[in-house]
Amino acid sequence: MKDLYELLGVSRTASAEEIKAAYRKLARELHPDVNPGNTAAEERFKEVSQAYAILSDDEKRAQYDRFGTTDIPSGGMQGDFFQGSINDLFEMFFGTAGGAQRRTVGRDGEDVRVDLQLTLLEVLTGVQREVTYRKMGHCPSCSGTGAAPGTSPETCPSCQGQGVVIRVQSTFLGQVRTQITCSTCSGEGRIVKDKCPSCRGRGLKAEDAVATVDIPPGVEHGSHMHFPGRGGDPVGGGVPGDLYVFLNVTDDSRFVRQGPDLLTSVAISFPQAALGDSITIDGVETDVELEIPAGTQPGTRFKVRGAGLPRLRGAHRGDLYVDVTVRVPERLNEGQAKLLRDFAEASGDETPKGQAGLLGGLFKKKR
Ligand SMILES: [Zn+2]
Ligand SMILES: [Zn+2]
Repeated sequence: MKDLYELLGVSRTASAEEIKAAYRKLARELHPDVNPGNTAAEERFKEVSQAYAILSDDEKRAQYDRFGTTDIPSGGMQGDFFQGSINDLFEMFFGTAGGAQRRTVGRDGEDVRVDLQLTLLEVLTGVQREVTYRKMGHCPSCSGTGAAPGTSPETCPSCQGQGVVIRVQSTFLGQVRTQITCSTCSGEGRIVKDKCPSCRGRGLKAEDAVATVDIPPGVEHGSHMHFPGRGGDPVGGGVPGDLYVFLNVTDDSRFVRQGPDLLTSVAISFPQAALGDSITIDGVETDVELEIPAGTQPGTRFKVRGAGLPRLRGAHRGDLYVDVTVRVPERLNEGQAKLLRDFAEASGDETPKGQAGLLGGLFKKKR
């Protein structure tokens, strides 16, 4: 067992006030809600809470001081108090929760996710899609009450239909009233005695739902649209779930997307690069004319303004960038080779040795 005073960072002669202050500080640093997924912090939080449970109790502290241990069962205190949220902790310390406490009687509907596949052209234009999805809807036999036909749910006697009960706890700050979910009715505020046979008392059955989704131009791959209240139906006084439509954009091998801009490449011949040309390349929706100026070098990037994708809720479209590569002919006949040698000579370049060398001869035989 670790030294409890050390755990809280206080001296053995610390006053109750000092111990309380030390614990408050540590608890706020180490609470699992502040450190999601951090198991080391969670472990320390438990240790610190346990140390505080002992040292804040005069009798247990005296016992610990004398024997170096107490008979407090492990997990005793934090099991009662600190499984809750950070709000519960703040409430304990400051009397009010960090956020407004919302408690509805009943069960909230489930959120539903739908995935849609879009083409680049649909990203360009925007599109309206009708999506059909499965959700939990109110059972038609019992209209969502969960009670057998001819019967109705009864108000929960434990919580008088509130779904919560008030627990009064003694803490180091005095008595604290905490709302906890009623265990008799699981927070629903009502109890179904005769269960609806169709939904076995759940009040819900899976059903098809349809939503019309207006996808604006310019959406990104992996983004989603949120439709509050279009998910599963609630039970009792809960709120309906939400529908999330995730948008996936199918890869288009012709383009690489960078936000509103598109990247593409085109291969032109050496004469085209040298003499210049006007070529047609693929755009998203229509062909795009591209002027190749004389003397274009391999790797040159051209920009076709406004031929990219629209920005989401933006005024104008992004651009299309075209990377130019220059094709070098792989095989030449004798006439072509002679022309190129003559060209090199006319350019004042050293005449290439070409296939006269041994390696060239070997390649020739292979082909
Ligand atoms: Zn039913
Ligand atoms: Zn209840």
